[in-house]
Amino acid sequence: MAAPKVAVVGAGVIGLSTALCIVETCPSCSVTVLSDQFSPNTTSDVAAGMLIPHTYPGTPIHVQKQWFKETFTYLFAISNSAEASEAGIHLVSGWQVFKSTPKEELPFWSDAVLGFRPMSEAELQKFPQYQFGQAFTTLKCDCPPYLLWLQKRLKATGIQMYNRKISDLWELHSEYDIVVNCAGIGAHQLVGDRKLFPVRGQVLKVYAPWVKNFIRDGDGLTYIYPGIHRVTLGGTREKESWSLSADPGTTKDIFDRCCSLEPSLREAQDIKVKVGLRPTRQCVRLQREVLSQAGVKLLVVHNYGHGAGGFSVHRGTAKEAARLVGECVAALQGSSSGSKL
Ligand code: FAD
Repeated sequence: MAAPKVAVVGAGVIGLSTALCIVETCPSCSVTVLSDQFSPNTTSDVAAGMLIPHTYPGTPIHVQKQWFKETFTYLFAISNSAEASEAGIHLVSGWQVFKSTPKEELPFWSDAVLGFRPMSEAELQKFPQYQFGQAFTTLKCDCPPYLLWLQKRLKATGIQMYNRKISDLWELHSEYDIVVNCAGIGAHQLVGDRKLFPVRGQVLKVYAPWVKNFIRDGDGLTYIYPGIHRVTLGGTREKESWSLSADPGTTKDIFDRCCSLEPSLREAQDIKVKVGLRPTRQCVRLQREVLSQAGVKLLVVHNYGHGAGGFSVHRGTAKEAARLVGECVAALQGSSSGSKL
């Protein structure tokens, strides 16, 4: 049969990394990325891009751990290459601090990051309101450069990318054999997924080049993540809020919370405010589906719903989505010519 034509819908970190994994694992496929927005206008551009996993209650922990490890290994290799600066990937060390000792002193990802250990009494003196802490080194993506780097890699493989809003996956049926849905929060409307909801996040990107270590309150709400050029200060988690407008009261609150963790931030300059909607579900939707309409079939692979942890697991879920595309290709090849299955 002719090269299977694959459309990837979405150009955030999930769509771009999934397209790349499909090209790497199914070189016979002709892949096109279709998206109504590209960097710098996606949720992925707003993210802090820290590799600290968020837990998906509906996904087995060993699967989440594998996704995280695969992502860490992939980005660690980039951070250790000449491309690290262009790709915006770097190692960062720091502390996660708790007001009281957490139930789980060793999170499931503790052996996937580097040098995980409890903080010493001396280190904890930096945080007088906190009783317990964990020190480790992880990776951070500076998100817009990483998205541009992924796009560059895709273009180098000959992939086409078009600006296009998809109203219904069926509109791609006549042009493509397989459709991969990486629409993030857009999947709420695109495939009518009512289990998917936004968790609004507001962050500040500030100039404070003297801040070199990350600091994260264990409740996940307040964090300071230094990137290559800017430091991300967070944050908020507002369930079911669709508003993309920045709230000045929230900006002040985030700034004050971060200054209480790292007082030197009072001198931070050039504060920019960003808002994004985390595409949240009980579990990432990572599955094959065969849509059927009047006897016609459309092969779909879904990969969306990464919530607060898309950067932390993107490579692992992209590899699994590419494997599912491989299954679709095998089904197409096994079917009689002319049929879609
Ligand atoms: P998106 O980036 O939203 O991409 C979806 C794409 O689909 C877009 O290109 C969009 O234009 C396109 N699209 C949607 N609908 C359609 C349609 N109908 N037709 C065509 N195209 C369509 N994660 C971490 O791991 N670490 C962090 O430190 C971190 N910090 C965060 C901080 C904040 C404030 C926020 C908001 C998120 C953070 N996240 C973090 C989470 C992370 O940003 C998301 O999990 C991730 O960006 C989701 O990527 P995505 O590609 O699925 O979605």
